[in-house]
Amino acid sequence: MPAKVIDGNEVSALIRKEIGGRVEQMRRHGIVPGLAVIVIGNNAASAVYVRNKIRACEDVGIRSFRFDFGESASPEDVLSVIEELNNRQDVHGILVQLPLPPKFSIGSILRTISADKDVDGFHLYNVGGLVVGDTVFPPCTPYGVVKLLEHENITIEGKNVVVVGASNIVGKPIALMLMQRDATVCICHAKTRDLAQFTILADILVVAAGKPNLILPQMVKTGAVVIDVGINRLANGKLVGDVDFNGVKEKASYITPVPGGVGPMTVTMLLENTISSAERAIKQKSSV
Ligand code: NAD
Repeated sequence: MPAKVIDGNEVSALIRKEIGGRVEQMRRHGIVPGLAVIVIGNNAASAVYVRNKIRACEDVGIRSFRFDFGESASPEDVLSVIEELNNRQDVHGILVQLPLPPKFSIGSILRTISADKDVDGFHLYNVGGLVVGDTVFPPCTPYGVVKLLEHENITIEGKNVVVVGASNIVGKPIALMLMQRDATVCICHAKTRDLAQFTILADILVVAAGKPNLILPQMVKTGAVVIDVGINRLANGKLVGDVDFNGVKEKASYITPVPGGVGPMTVTMLLENTISSAERAIKQKSSV
C-alpha cells in the first residue's frame, strides 16, 4: 500500500488557527505580540521568505516590524538596532534573515539577539538548551518536523531515526530533538560512506541534504516514515525535495511531499515561537 502523504499545509493551518486564538486572547488584554525581522542585503530568495513570514504574521494577528539594511550598512549599525529591539516591550521575537552578506559575522549577530527573543532558536543559549532538553525556542524547521510526527501520532520513542544532513539549523537540532524523545539516532552527512547501509535501518528517515533524488526506494525500509526537508529547484523550474517521492511513496508508511510538507511548518513554528515568547513575557511581568 502506498504511504500516507502528510499534508503540511493542513497541519500548518490547524496550528495557525490555534495561534490566532491565542493572539486574539492577548489582544483582548491590550497586548499585541510583535516580531522584528531584519533583512541585510538583496538576496532574492530571502526576499520571498521574508514576505511569507510577514504575511503569515498578519494572518494570525502578530505585528511585524521590518528593518532593511543595504549591503553597504556597517555591522555596528545592525548590532545597535538589535540591541534596541532587545529592550523594546512591543517586540517579542527578533529574527535576522540568513544568509548574510560576507562582511557580516553570523556568530556576532546571532549572539547579540537576546536569548529571550531568539525565535529562530539559533542563539548559543538556545542551542545549549537543545542539548540538555529544555530549549526555550526550538529551531523552526526541526520543530515543524516534530509537530508533523506528533500530528500523525507516529511514535518516536524507541524508534531508529536516521537523519541525513548535519547542519546547525536542520540536521543537528532535529537529531537532538528526536533523541530527547528517546529515539535511537544516527546522523549521516556528505562524508558518510555508503549512505544506504544507514538509511535502510531507519524507522523514521529525515532527509535534509539539499540533493535531489538522494534517497531512492532501495535505500528505504518497507514501512518507514520518510520526512523530506530538502528544497531543490531543478533546471526546469520544478521544486523537489531530496527523496525520490514517487518511488519511495510505494515503500514508506508515511511521506512528506515537496512542496507542501515540511516547508509550510517552518513559518508556522516561527509564529508559535513568537506567540509563546509574548505569553512568557506577560507571565514574567505579572509575577514581578
Ligand atoms: P546545508 O547545506 O547547511 O547542510 C547540508 C547537509 O547535508 C550537510 O551536513 C552535508 O554534509 C549533508 N549532505 C550533503 N550532501 C550529502 C550527501 N550526498 N549525502 C549525505 N549527506 C549530504 O543545508 P541545510 O541548511 O541543512 O538545508 C538542507 C536542505 O533543507 C536544503 O535543501 C534546504 O533548502 C532545505 N531546508 C528546508 C527548510 C524548510 O523549511 N523545509 C528549511 C531549511 C532548509
